[in-house]
Amino acid sequence: MPTQLGNTVDFSEAKVIFSSPEAYTHFDAEIRFRLIQALQTTLDLEQLLHIFFDHVQTVVNLEGLSYKLDLLGIELTLGRQSIHTGSYRLITQQDFLGEITFCNNKRFPEKDLAVLENLLNVLVFPLRNAIRHREALSAALEDPLTGAGNRLALNNTLQREIIRAQRYEQSMGVLMIDLDNFKSINDKYGHQTGDEVLRTIVDAMRNEIRGSDVLFRYGGEEFVVLLTSTTLASARYIAERVRSRINGLEIEKNGERIPTSISVGLSMLQPEDSVRRLLERADYAMYCAKNEGRNKVKVCREELA
Ligand code: GH3
Ligand code: MG
Ligand code: MG
Repeated sequence: MPTQLGNTVDFSEAKVIFSSPEAYTHFDAEIRFRLIQALQTTLDLEQLLHIFFDHVQTVVNLEGLSYKLDLLGIELTLGRQSIHTGSYRLITQQDFLGEITFCNNKRFPEKDLAVLENLLNVLVFPLRNAIRHREALSAALEDPLTGAGNRLALNNTLQREIIRAQRYEQSMGVLMIDLDNFKSINDKYGHQTGDEVLRTIVDAMRNEIRGSDVLFRYGGEEFVVLLTSTTLASARYIAERVRSRINGLEIEKNGERIPTSISVGLSMLQPEDSVRRLLERADYAMYCAKNEGRNKVKVCREELA
């Protein structure tokens, strides 16, 4: 019979909660000490859980460990899944730190559960620091208004993807997108409505691009979409789909429809390209779209050669 244990371990008072009085007897103080030291060596969440798993395995029979924190979209499995499981929801006074599940091919004896709980107590504060670190990192790369990647994220990602695409000779496209006449939306409906329009447009753009494409806020009302492993024909198709979707948006204010459209410039990665040149060409194509009356997709001439 598989077993399933579900526990909430409350670390609010930062004290050890033992499931049985014999727990401490079986607890290996040296392992605990080594674990404390090892966990201090990193702020990386995945690395932290690897270290924890490795140490726990030296004292408890364990096939696998999985960890889940929905809030940050983290789901990690180490080792193998097995039928006997013990789950712990980790909480402190301020935070929910996720759920950790240990699994094994044999039922966990009481003494092992006690050791696991004790080691969890060692994990909890390094884990909280790693989660905070992860949150800070993602906040540093995200535009707070729209949730799109920010300029720093754009630079990092483009740099990396250009190297990858050039190494594997894959084609890649970039869309430079600028909202048309956005100033007049602010002027007419107010800045707050302007912000709402920006958010709605970002959500709509996200729905039109593929899961592998990445959206960044380049500046005020300018956005960049990175299209990895994409040919010129597909990039054009996606750009046109995004343009058409934004043009068809029904955003209303005071019973009036706010007109929305975008001008899009497309550039494709060239063999000797840099981040700067790739973006410059997309930007140039975008200005051509503006000059030709807005609400258009234009492809840089070099890309067509
Ligand atoms: P064009 O079609 O030539 O691009 O015209 P435009 O009005 O969009 O261009 P312009 O560069 O004149 O104006 C951009 C406007 O975008 C001005 C600025 O107030 C607005 N904007 C930039 N960032 C934000 C923001 O975060 N929120 C709001 N509400 N408006 C913003
Ligand atoms: Mg602009
Ligand atoms: Mg604009």
